[in-house]
Amino acid sequence: MDYLSELYTRLRAAALELELRRNEPLDRYTTFRVGGPAALMALPKSEGEVRLALRTAAELGVEPFFLGNGSNLLVADEGYPGFIVKLSTSVSDFVQTREVDRGLEAGGAIPLPRLANAALDRGLTGLEFASGIPGSLGGAVTMNAGAYGGELCQVVESVTVMDRQGNVEKIPNAACKFSYRHSAFEDGSRLILSARFALQQGDRAEIKAKMDDLNARRQEKQPLEYPSAGSTFKRPQGHFAAALIDQCGLKGLRVGGAQVSEKHAGFIINAGGATCADVLALMDRVRERVLAATGVTLEPEVRLLK
Ligand SMILES: Cc1cc2nc3c(=O)[nH]c(=O)nc-3n(C[C@H](O)[C@H](O)[C@H](O)COP(=O)(O)OP(=O)(O)OC[C@H]3O[C@@H](n4cnc5c(N)ncnc54)[C@H](O)[C@@H]3O)c2cc1C
Repeated sequence: MDYLSELYTRLRAAALELELRRNEPLDRYTTFRVGGPAALMALPKSEGEVRLALRTAAELGVEPFFLGNGSNLLVADEGYPGFIVKLSTSVSDFVQTREVDRGLEAGGAIPLPRLANAALDRGLTGLEFASGIPGSLGGAVTMNAGAYGGELCQVVESVTVMDRQGNVEKIPNAACKFSYRHSAFEDGSRLILSARFALQQGDRAEIKAKMDDLNARRQEKQPLEYPSAGSTFKRPQGHFAAALIDQCGLKGLRVGGAQVSEKHAGFIINAGGATCADVLALMDRVRERVLAATGVTLEPEVRLLK
């Protein structure tokens, strides 16, 4: 029996109620709507189920990949031959919010728009910038997601993680090694269970107005009507990726079903039936043309899972 079959058998025997899926198509778990199946996926609903999944995998030498909302991921057409752990969003501990002294605590799978709304409901300011980012808390902390001058690192007080042996640790902001779209969690060795946010008491109407304004700006500027993974490339020092791509006349450039958005050059969209190979080929073309014309090397912001 191979390791994943053994893992499946052991998890099934240990916890009948743990949600497990084999050969699960990943296109439905990514905002790009691209990618083949995952060999094995677990969707734990509680800390106990996460611990069981991680420890059992560790016993068999299997390194899991932690999937959030798949909004910064490009999954290979062949799929992922390993084990994916995705915190469940259905009736689970991981989408709850709780008011704490000077802020909020929330589970690792909560979508950022829902987190921002929970802050709004309590009249807490600081998370307005996150209200249009379609990631989960875990993915957003890992990526130090940000927009319109705000970044997760400005409001995270601490992050609670579980390592592959099932140990839980609360990590203060200063130890999270946050920088532009980076954090200490990128190495994939710890799963983010929850985070605590330091927020200020504010005026509910003002918070709402700011969120509405930022979301209207997104609607106007971004191709939200198409599947994508947001900005394809990171912001290069001293430049804007979208402006460089636009300047090179690449809006509308297409490979198969992948296209540089006509509305926002920083987005590669799935214009219909795109494969991962289409997106990668288009990314290469864009990088080559921008480098040749401007001397700037674009680094992908989107992560490849294969
Ligand atoms: C239309 C659109 C607009 C966007 N706008 C923005 C924006 O304004 N600003 C911005 O920064 N990004 C933006 N993004 C990109 C994306 O939403 C963010 O990077 C987001 O933080 C990714 O979160 P996720 O849950 O989807 O992570 P995923 O894509 O699932 O994963 C990203 C990384 O996080 C890790 N990860 C996920 N969950 C966990 C966990 N619980 N524990 C440990 N590691 C985990 C994964 O292993 C992976 O390395 C946009 C995307 C789209 C589609």
